[in-house]
Amino acid sequence: MKNLPINENIAALQPYVPGKPISELMREFGLSDIVKLASNENPLGVSPKAKTAMQMAIETVNFYPDGNSFELKQALADFYQLSSDQLVLGNGSNDVLDLIARTFLSPEKEVIFSQYAFAVYPIVTQLVGATAVEVPAHEWGHDLDAMLSAITDKTAVIFIANPNNPTGTLLEKDAVEAFLQQVPAHIIVVLDEAYAEYLEHLPNYPRGVDYLAQYPNLIVTRTFSKIYGLAGLRIGYGMASSEIINVLNRARQPFNVNLVAQAAAEAALKDSDYVQRSVKTNTEGLEQLAQGLDGLDIEYIESYANFITFKAPKASELYLKLLEAGVIVRPLAGYKMADYLRVSVGDYEQNRRFLLALIENLDAE
Ligand SMILES: *Cc1c(COP(=O)(O)O)cnc(C)c1O
Repeated sequence: MKNLPINENIAALQPYVPGKPISELMREFGLSDIVKLASNENPLGVSPKAKTAMQMAIETVNFYPDGNSFELKQALADFYQLSSDQLVLGNGSNDVLDLIARTFLSPEKEVIFSQYAFAVYPIVTQLVGATAVEVPAHEWGHDLDAMLSAITDKTAVIFIANPNNPTGTLLEKDAVEAFLQQVPAHIIVVLDEAYAEYLEHLPNYPRGVDYLAQYPNLIVTRTFSKIYGLAGLRIGYGMASSEIINVLNRARQPFNVNLVAQAAAEAALKDSDYVQRSVKTNTEGLEQLAQGLDGLDIEYIESYANFITFKAPKASELYLKLLEAGVIVRPLAGYKMADYLRVSVGDYEQNRRFLLALIENLDAE
């Protein structure tokens, strides 16, 4: 390795650690009946409308996809009352986060994000050799005043996930509005709304899209991986002023979003019945998990998303015991939350299975 001309940003990179795939646990433990509650995926399975659209789309994969995603962008523009030139598509919203870093960052620039923020922010920052400025969290959430105070002449991008992953904390309207007003207009603010659809009906939720007209430096990212149930297809999007979208599109690989994903996403967007059922399943599941954890006297962080992060003093042992019981959750040592595990909200039976496995293995605590 010493002789290879490795880019030093990449050589120093701490790779992203994904949730353990079901197939891997099958291979390692010889288990067959496995519940994965590790990557905040939708427990309802694929939306029926998306499935039909995918089946039709596979007939034409001998063709390249529309590199401009014309139809999907049109559908998203109608959905959000935006213009098509305010949308950029990504191979998952992680791809959009990477595009933002490559477009707006360089080694002399600084990026602000919170302690316990999504793991992809430090990765895309490091990849382009920019400097990460991590601001201490306040009660597990973003401390927006401290983030404002961290702004310097070199600040180029600020990443904020709302709600945040892996803590599930929420920033409310007043706080986000006051923050946007105070950030200098030449700094890019990214509101990462991967979980917005679970709670945007709440009057206090600050939907980033509502602020785009007022703030040409704002980028809102969303994904089809969570509530739309298409994590395996890889498709997400960014919404911003047409000026920002124009430069992001220059950095984008021409065919970054595949043909099947474009068709599925358009259909999923229109499957409001599936989305409503998903919200209901999640609201009930959060309640079920919270009650279960309360009953066991386990501390957890109140969550507004589709997962709960709970305290487990011997978290790595408990994680392994749960794996042996066929339940995959997410260790958070990579987030410097070594005493915590994150469990995604499943359907009623999956949540029950997790809680039972937890009860049986509490001595690992
Ligand atoms: C899951 C998640 C994403 C979405 O990632 P995709 O690449 O769209 O699958 C983005 N941001 C946060 C905070 C997430 O938790």
